[in-house]
Amino acid sequence: MSSNWFKRKLANGEAVTRSWLVYSPSKKSAYCICCLLYSRSEHQSTLQQEGGFSQWKAPERMTVHKNAKNHRECFTLWKELERNLTEKKGILGVELQLQIEKEKQKWRDILMRILHGIKYLTKQNLALRGHRESLQADGNSNVGNFLGLMKFLAVFDPVMREHLALIESHPYALSYISPGVQNEFIHIMASTVRKNLLDSIKKAKYYGLLFDSTPDQAHREQISEVVRFVDIDFERKTVCVRESFLGFLHLRQKDAASFV
Ligand SMILES: [Zn+2]
Repeated sequence: MSSNWFKRKLANGEAVTRSWLVYSPSKKSAYCICCLLYSRSEHQSTLQQEGGFSQWKAPERMTVHKNAKNHRECFTLWKELERNLTEKKGILGVELQLQIEKEKQKWRDILMRILHGIKYLTKQNLALRGHRESLQADGNSNVGNFLGLMKFLAVFDPVMREHLALIESHPYALSYISPGVQNEFIHIMASTVRKNLLDSIKKAKYYGLLFDSTPDQAHREQISEVVRFVDIDFERKTVCVRESFLGFLHLRQKDAASFV
C-alpha cells in the first residue's frame, strides 16, 4: 500500500484525503475506521472485516465503498462525534456534563477547605487528632483540633455544613476527613515544602550542613539534618542567612555508635 491510497482525485484534479482509511502494518491491510466503529449491517465490506482490505490491484473498490449507503451513514455518525468532541460538548449529553462539572467543583471546594485546615494546624504546630475522633461524639468529648476546626467552619460555611451533615447521617459516605487522608495531605505538603527548600539551597552559593544526634522514645539514634545557607535576592538586593530543618536520619545501631 502506498500513500496514494489515502488521496482521492476529483475530476478537476484536486486531491481529497480519505480521512476514514487506516492501515495496519502488522496485518498489512487497510480498514475503514467509521464502518468499524458504527456499522451494524450484515453485509460487511472487507474494509471492516477482521482480515481487512489487501486487494491492492483493485483501487476502484475504495470508490465503491465510499459511495455505499452503509458507509455514508457510518461516516456521518463519526463526523458528528468528532464535531461534538471538538466543541467540547463531549459524547455525553450537555445536562449530564453540567452535572459532572458541578460534582467536580463540589469536591474541589470540600478538599480545599480540608487542605487549608490541615495547613493551618501544621503551621501552628498543633496536633490534629483528638481523644475521640468522631462527628457523632457527644458534646463533652474532645474531637481534636482538625475535626473541631471543620465543625467551626461548618457554622459559617454552607459547603462544609452540607458535607458534615451528610457524613453524620451516612457514616460510611466518602468524607476525606479520615486520619489516613489527613496523613496523606501532610505527606504531600511536606514533600512540596522539602522540594522548594532544596531548590533554594541548590541555588545558594554558600551553605553549611549541621547534624545533631539524639535518641528517640524507643532509644533509637536519630540525626537531625539542618542546612544553613545564604539566601541572596539580587532583585530586592537583600541578603539573609536561613536555616532549614530537612528531616531526621535514622541510623542502624552499629553506625550510630561510630557516629557518636
Ligand atoms: Zn466505511
